[in-house]
Amino acid sequence: MFTQDDRAFDRQHIWHPYTSLHEPLPCYPVVAAEKCQLELADGRRLVDGMSSWWAAIHGYNHPRLNQALQQQMAQMSHVMFGGITHPAAVQLCRQLVSMTPEALECVFLADSGSVAVEVSMKMAMQYWLGRGERRQQFLTLQRGYHGDTFAAMSVCDPDNSMHSLWRGFLPPHHFAAAPQCAFDDAWDERDIDDFARLIAQHHTQIAAVILEPIVQGAGGMRFYHPRYLQRVREYCDRYGLLLIADEIATGFGRSGKLFACEHAQIVPDILCLGKALTGGTMTLSATLTTREVADTIGRSEAGCFMHGPTFMGNPLACAVASASLALVQEGAWQRQVAGIEQQLRDQLLALRSHPQVADVRVLGAIGVVESRTPVNMAAIQRFFVDQGVWIRPFGRLIYLMPPYIITADELAQLTTAIGRALDNPALFNA
Ligand SMILES: *Cc1c(COP(=O)(O)O)cnc(C)c1O
Repeated sequence: MFTQDDRAFDRQHIWHPYTSLHEPLPCYPVVAAEKCQLELADGRRLVDGMSSWWAAIHGYNHPRLNQALQQQMAQMSHVMFGGITHPAAVQLCRQLVSMTPEALECVFLADSGSVAVEVSMKMAMQYWLGRGERRQQFLTLQRGYHGDTFAAMSVCDPDNSMHSLWRGFLPPHHFAAAPQCAFDDAWDERDIDDFARLIAQHHTQIAAVILEPIVQGAGGMRFYHPRYLQRVREYCDRYGLLLIADEIATGFGRSGKLFACEHAQIVPDILCLGKALTGGTMTLSATLTTREVADTIGRSEAGCFMHGPTFMGNPLACAVASASLALVQEGAWQRQVAGIEQQLRDQLLALRSHPQVADVRVLGAIGVVESRTPVNMAAIQRFFVDQGVWIRPFGRLIYLMPPYIITADELAQLTTAIGRALDNPALFNA
């Protein structure tokens, strides 16, 4: 049930992501979700192309995830993590340590991706304090996205996250030009020049480099060259700086590898995970690091790592994450993601010659159509819903990152809807 009254209350009182309460864009009431489909209050079903922002990789209402939640709920939904531990957290962290590169063996659990990024930056600063140095600057890339809390925002692309609003409050960090060599391009060594210049100039002040490996997500849906990431690792080693890989969007198979760092065969010093960690069921994040970083943090003046959220290690979230990782470990994602990639290439790359299209790119289970002019949000959202699909573009980016379990027919519905939208000038701003 979703009444006209509910709709009116929602419009007047509830903020949705990045919207104005003054003049909100329309919202679509969803009352149920199953596998790869969302059910609207009026009974219509939409094929989901978003995985609820990278998260629902196994689809919705998954029996194994539901069962894990029910079993854990019957034991306890939550208990504090200070001075207490529990089987669900231990099992999840065992899985995380075994799935990630060998050097990453110490896990910090937190509530959301943004908090994982805060934690990673705090780890890097405390690591330097443990070495007797106060280092508070970070080096990152333009067009990056790392979350909406203040430290995370301070390393997001300055224009996209409107740093101008927070001038004087956000700490200033260093931004290297965004990589220009795309994933499949021939590598051009000059692509790393700006990064190399900045790290050479500021390395004595910098605590860590933080970036999204290979896939720059919310800052532009760009796929850059693995060699760029290799060079970053080499420069971090040369100057003795930590490398933080934010795999909150890319972790658990989305880019075609279990972790996007594998495209470049590099290992970060700190790894942030979130989004798909619980299969899209609950909010949870994990920040992993090496024994050396953990030990060095222990030598800082505080003597411990200064963080501890109320819901740290929430048992329900750990249990469902554990079930999700078990599904990942069974390995079906590899075939599924490869199949999605092939179909996206077949069906989206054909749109490259369309007059409204500036670029089309595909990597793993991510397909991006970049239009020449920005979409008219309200109009295109409505168009897609009328076409029976859930696709939520932003700016000039119409993109798909469906649940791995999507069928070929469902995926074809998504790509067909994009093709039709491009033919409709009313859906784009001039
Ligand atoms: C979504 C995202 C975050 C922030 O995660 P939240 O759970 O929304 O706080 C951080 N980094 C990247 C790369 C993301 O895609």
